[in-house]
Amino acid sequence: MIILKSPREIDRMRAACSIVAEVLEGLRPLVCPGATTFDLDKYASAETLKRNAKCAFRGYNNFPSSLCCSPNDVVVHGFPNKTLLKSGDILSLDFGVVYDDFFGDAAVTIPVGDVSAAAKKLISVTEASLYAGIEMATPGNRLGDISAAVQKYVESRGFSVVRDFVGHGIGRNLHEDPQIPNYGLPGKGVKLKPGMVLAIEPMINEKSHEVRILNDKWTVVTCDGGFSAHFEHTVAITENGPEILTRI
Ligand code: MG
Repeated sequence: MIILKSPREIDRMRAACSIVAEVLEGLRPLVCPGATTFDLDKYASAETLKRNAKCAFRGYNNFPSSLCCSPNDVVVHGFPNKTLLKSGDILSLDFGVVYDDFFGDAAVTIPVGDVSAAAKKLISVTEASLYAGIEMATPGNRLGDISAAVQKYVESRGFSVVRDFVGHGIGRNLHEDPQIPNYGLPGKGVKLKPGMVLAIEPMINEKSHEVRILNDKWTVVTCDGGFSAHFEHTVAITENGPEILTRI
């Protein structure tokens, strides 16, 4: 069941979402050669606490940290660790908070030092595919219009869309209906209405779309070792079209 949010509830979500945006923006300059994801996680926890919010992922189905840190061939749900980041890595950071009973969720992929042209392209195509999807999040369109827009943008540029993980509705719960695949057919799926709030999150692979989960039961990696990038915004559908709540 899709839970519609009133304008007042969307206001409350705006507060949670701006905390997410601020923390991710604060993390960006800290992502550099020699840094560790362990320290990034500590920063995210401290900044969230300062704003009287709670980290959404820590403890969620026993997830052990505040920030998902997914380098290189890690697609999503990587654990922070003490490995030093090095020039040429790419790092996906996925972060969520709960504040005033509502959740916000967003992700970015950041290059570490100097990265290859191929990695730069993967990052920019993934980010642009998110905006191609968001553009379709208008009343009267269907869910498949978002999915198809992401898929078309990505595949026409030679990359592949992860199938096994999808975006989601969000509100008083981190994950609500509907599921939002990053592939699909235009004109299919539920009709989009004002009051829907969606976490749209393309996960895009350099090579094959196939992924597997490591023995830790969380870390998702590409099967072929190719790089993967991830961008996400929490987006409210309004009478006037999409409003990105996690925009800085
Ligand atoms: Mg999400």
